[in-house]
Amino acid sequence: MKQMLAAVLTEPGAPLDLREVPVPVPGPGELLIKLEACGVCHTDLHVRDGSASAAGHPHPLILGHEGIGRVVAQGPGAKRYELGERLALPWLHDTCGSCPECLGGSESFCADQRAHGFSVHGGFAEYAIVRESFTTRIPDGLDPVTAAPLLCAGVTAYGAIRKAELAPGKTCMVVGCGGLGLYAVQLAKQSGAQVVAVDTSQRKLDIAREAGADHTFLAGEDPGGRTRDLGGADACINFAPSAAPWKAMVDGIRPRGWIIGVAMVPDPVPLSMEWLTYTGARITGTSVGTRQELNELLQIGARTNLKIPTERVDLRNVNDALDRLAQSTVDGRMVIEFDSFAGR
Ligand SMILES: [Zn+2]
Ligand SMILES: [Zn+2]
Repeated sequence: MKQMLAAVLTEPGAPLDLREVPVPVPGPGELLIKLEACGVCHTDLHVRDGSASAAGHPHPLILGHEGIGRVVAQGPGAKRYELGERLALPWLHDTCGSCPECLGGSESFCADQRAHGFSVHGGFAEYAIVRESFTTRIPDGLDPVTAAPLLCAGVTAYGAIRKAELAPGKTCMVVGCGGLGLYAVQLAKQSGAQVVAVDTSQRKLDIAREAGADHTFLAGEDPGGRTRDLGGADACINFAPSAAPWKAMVDGIRPRGWIIGVAMVPDPVPLSMEWLTYTGARITGTSVGTRQELNELLQIGARTNLKIPTERVDLRNVNDALDRLAQSTVDGRMVIEFDSFAGR
């Protein structure tokens, strides 16, 4: 049986184990892709440390959900894509297809979804399985390493921006200028909105400014009050994994504005129902994106210069990459590049 190198989770809290495992065989409606690139996401970190896990996932589990690769084998009945076509391995492996969320255009909230690198094997391996109904073609002209972060970081930011209802004349506060926040800055700017970027790091604010932010405020320097001085934000989107930005968002939001939670923040925040009543503020959350949103974003990515800083890493160094992610010392995204495997 043909073997491949994979980074597998053997027990939560332990480093991923680099080992040879059998190349999977695609079943009905499935495709085998040979990975060219796979981004490293915070969720991979949470899965590795055990703070996030799915019931019934395979053991050991191959992580990774920002993969791009070419079709090398088709399972029975899988006819939508040709051998050699470049496809996505995104977060969603599949969903139930029949619940109100799936039918109502919110499939990323399906309670019965299966996700790559979480409930089924993902892209931290030389080969992976995708479902032909849930993968999508990567447009020509997109470089796999540059485009891989679009599949989770990018589509998550895009889903948030869609909910923010931006337009020329509106103002959007983006809190947290890592990879997701930088996509959000660019997408908000494309909508014609004025963009206020907030972060604890001046370096990240400088990158956000280059990405198109009109105003950049350090988290400790009253970003909410300063945003209010600009006329207030029609939408405040939080990408920072902390409850601390809540005050800035409440201070900076305009009446009827959207407060959108993206980062997974387990800590509670104070919410005055009186404030809710007299501002009419709207509060929601968002999680990755639908297939349709991913297709739209890939087209935007191919047409515009949508990108974040990316650092290429080797699959063999994936634990180091995850450790650095935990320390928040990364600008943008680290992406595993599989071309570095000479001769395989
Ligand atoms: Zn992710
Ligand atoms: Zn469903």
